[in-house]
Amino acid sequence: MTSDFDVGTVDEFQSIVGPAGIAVDEDVLEPHLLERRGLFRGETSLMVMPATTGEAAAVIGLCHRRGIGVVPQGGNTGLVGGAVVQSTSAAPQILLNARRLNRIRELDAGNYTITAEAGCILKTLQERATEADRLFPLSLAAEGSCQLGGNLASNAGGTNVLRFGNARDLVLGLEVVLPDGRVLEALRGLRKNNTGYDLKQLFIGAEGTLGFITAATCKLFPLPRGVATALIALRDPEAAIALYDLARSRLGDELVAFELLSRLALELAIAGQGNTRDPLDEPYHWYVLLELASAHDHEATHTALESFMQQYIEAGVIQNAVIAHSETQRNRLWQLRHLVSEAQQQIGASIKHDISVPVSKIGVFIERASAWITGRIPGCRVVAFGHLGDGNIHFNISQPQDMSAEVFLEQWGAVNREVHGIAVDLGGSFSAEHGIGLLKIDELKRLGQHVELELMKTIKLALDPEGIMNPGKLF
Ligand SMILES: Cc1cc2nc3c(=O)[nH]c(=O)nc-3n(C[C@H](O)[C@H](O)[C@H](O)COP(=O)(O)OP(=O)(O)OC[C@H]3O[C@@H](n4cnc5c(N)ncnc54)[C@H](O)[C@@H]3O)c2cc1C
Repeated sequence: MTSDFDVGTVDEFQSIVGPAGIAVDEDVLEPHLLERRGLFRGETSLMVMPATTGEAAAVIGLCHRRGIGVVPQGGNTGLVGGAVVQSTSAAPQILLNARRLNRIRELDAGNYTITAEAGCILKTLQERATEADRLFPLSLAAEGSCQLGGNLASNAGGTNVLRFGNARDLVLGLEVVLPDGRVLEALRGLRKNNTGYDLKQLFIGAEGTLGFITAATCKLFPLPRGVATALIALRDPEAAIALYDLARSRLGDELVAFELLSRLALELAIAGQGNTRDPLDEPYHWYVLLELASAHDHEATHTALESFMQQYIEAGVIQNAVIAHSETQRNRLWQLRHLVSEAQQQIGASIKHDISVPVSKIGVFIERASAWITGRIPGCRVVAFGHLGDGNIHFNISQPQDMSAEVFLEQWGAVNREVHGIAVDLGGSFSAEHGIGLLKIDELKRLGQHVELELMKTIKLALDPEGIMNPGKLF
């Protein structure tokens, strides 16, 4: 396979998108070819960046006529290699980057909707919503660089799922260029529209294999008046599950985040902050970062959280806790949560998992998976953290100090298989929020349900019979 395009073909793309919409220089292409963790490196000599839906449709139409593969790319922050050009056949592939599709087309505060193009940075959307006294609740650590199109194509989760749902729950309408260049125009801002199949949902979570998302109409929510955030120390994950249950029933929809961190995860994040100060005065085994957001003011929201915590400190469920008393303190607590994954690099190579189980089974999962891994690789270090309120744990394993990274990483496949098997045995999933991409194709084959896989392939074949959209991903 060669990814090289002759001058004539490059000129044809350029006649659609103009010189600003083409990248052929190695230096420019390089950061777009590399998956951020270095697990995959793509190969292509052409990146095309349409600035309008019409341009995107013309580009994909040209690819369709020529049998050229199309790999959609947003902010390239995905963690499974979905936006990497992978050689699967003799056909060349382009990277179709959404960065120039970056207009907010409409913010309708009265309808609580925002219509934005795929290349809008997530943080920009959050900020625009806040300016209009509204909340766009999708939030994750990569929000400063990931894009709306990538968020939707990967059905991103993040830290507010327990209250507002995954990316797919936030979408009312979608505009997509289909693999033959036609445009599905379904940018409706309607909460009720029962007119047959809900086609937009096919493209959300499809990882760019069915079409190129160019814009979406998403739900907005009232901007909370008060926010209260606490870091809470607990004995073990079972105590965290018990507290979660109490928080949901006592605090209702004001509970927007409930994130679990092990002691080692917190220590790594503290070091990652360049800090030595523990937010609590002594170490504990487990922590939860809990956040309330309400229509009441800060003082009332803080009082609600304090009285909730006081009750469960006295009942012995909570061992210790600290509440953020300013936006700076709140940001520092959230930074600790967001830094864990990156900070894990400080202690060497890691084997990562993004599993989900029913919330009630999280303790059992962590116990079983930790016992298995420490038996198989003595000295390895378990860094478990994640979205407990969604049943989603990032169960990451760092190499033993006395083992080389190479020897440790050779066990990636075997470790994945066992840990994923434990999750599936408990009624869970081996792929909670990051998707399949290139990284988990074998696991989808192994653990996917037969009829589900057959249906997915039928849909792929119906929409993209030539297989030009994101070749080699998912299946
Ligand atoms: C530090 C960090 C924290 C993260 N935390 C979370 C988290 O909490 N929850 C979570 O769910 N994820 C998380 N992620 C991964 C997450 O999936 C991505 O950050 C984000 O949703 C992907 O957006 P992106 O624009 O970077 O997409 P990319 O990485 O560019 O692409 C992701 C996939 O979408 C496809 N795609 C991109 N744009 C389009 C488009 N316009 N049309 C069709 N297909 C397209 C690509 O082909 C690829 O398959 C995290 C990543 C990092 C680096």
